[in-house]
Amino acid sequence: MDTETEKIGLIKHINHEHIDAVNRIGRYFDADNSDEKTIGYQLLDYDAQACYLAKSIHGQKQGSLRIAFKCSGDVEAQILYLSYAAKHQQGQFPLIRNLRRFRCLSKKLVSPHICRLHWSAYEPLGSFPAGYAFYVSLQRHFIAKPEAALDQKQMAVSRYYTLRRSYPATHNQPAQMQMDIYIHGDSYGSQWVKALQEGEVMSTIGEYDEQLNIINVDYPYVLVGDETAYPAIAAFMERLPDHQRRQALLLLFAHDASEISYFDDIDGFKDIRQLLMVYPASDLQPAQQAIWQHVKNHMAKATIWGALEIKRSQVLNQWLSRHTDIAPHQIRLKGYWRQK
Ligand SMILES: Cc1cc2nc3c(=O)[nH]c(=O)nc-3n(C[C@H](O)[C@H](O)[C@H](O)COP(=O)(O)OP(=O)(O)OC[C@H]3O[C@@H](n4cnc5c(N)ncnc54)[C@H](O)[C@@H]3O)c2cc1C
Repeated sequence: MDTETEKIGLIKHINHEHIDAVNRIGRYFDADNSDEKTIGYQLLDYDAQACYLAKSIHGQKQGSLRIAFKCSGDVEAQILYLSYAAKHQQGQFPLIRNLRRFRCLSKKLVSPHICRLHWSAYEPLGSFPAGYAFYVSLQRHFIAKPEAALDQKQMAVSRYYTLRRSYPATHNQPAQMQMDIYIHGDSYGSQWVKALQEGEVMSTIGEYDEQLNIINVDYPYVLVGDETAYPAIAAFMERLPDHQRRQALLLLFAHDASEISYFDDIDGFKDIRQLLMVYPASDLQPAQQAIWQHVKNHMAKATIWGALEIKRSQVLNQWLSRHTDIAPHQIRLKGYWRQK
């Protein structure tokens, strides 16, 4: 892919996924931002030294501003850092939303490297849509008050994990839920899972609705994901009506082919069309071709949802927008983690 196409894709991604950060940067660095409610900002362009934001008032374009980058790293990291710096200068940190506590009932491997954590909730749990995720503090014995401000350190040691299943409270036991975590190397999340003891208490300090349920249901699904997205894909597949599940295609990435056994407990999984791509998959060409061939051969149109490493999700997104007829609003590819 040429650099210009890559740049356009990245700008689109940042305006789509990080528009709050872009707006925060605009408001903070723009000397003339008197009326917050009517002013909006969009990333227009970037170079090695700075980003350029387009400013609009009541939706009407009102020129642009240049904001110098403050640290090294790729453009996305620079934008997020500028947003963080703006917040920090204003003495603002994200607030803890929906503080919940859970007690660990059990942990077990459900595939070679995916560990299922089963939790008992201290408060009642509602029902959650597929892909719903909790922002988990991995600090042991974390004590916080609802709506307290999270500092940078707490953010660094928190991770999103998808709610795989939840069970409402019954007359003799509290509500319960499961999360499935991919363990790799000595990462912070992996160390936390390995050290976790039954009976230990976990705090979740934020929540995220992936809104998988509202993506277009008229066209068959192509669900794309690596190990971190398996829980969302599994939860979503379980909720699809039979006919839609049979029409879907799963395009699964794995570091080890045996990880696919994760899906063994889904009824009828073996009958679902699935393609497994085993890493190293730095070359996404086979995956791109597979999606496109499948759409051409089996589907008039498709709805694509997926989550994988952030750069790979961008590359895949750009390729699909450029080389296929699938409308951009029918493609939603998310970055769930960052390769360092
Ligand atoms: C909405 C949402 C839902 C999520 N749901 C889940 C979930 O249900 N289960 C789950 O396991 N994760 C899930 N994730 C990802 C999770 O939040 C972490 O980002 C991810 O697990 C990496 O954290 P870590 O502490 O293991 O590694 P990090 O501290 O982020 O990275 C440490 C090192 O490990 C490498 N690395 C990180 N992740 C991977 C990986 N997957 N494969 C190979 N190398 C890697 C990095 O390149 C880096 O070198 C979700 C993310 C989001 C945004």
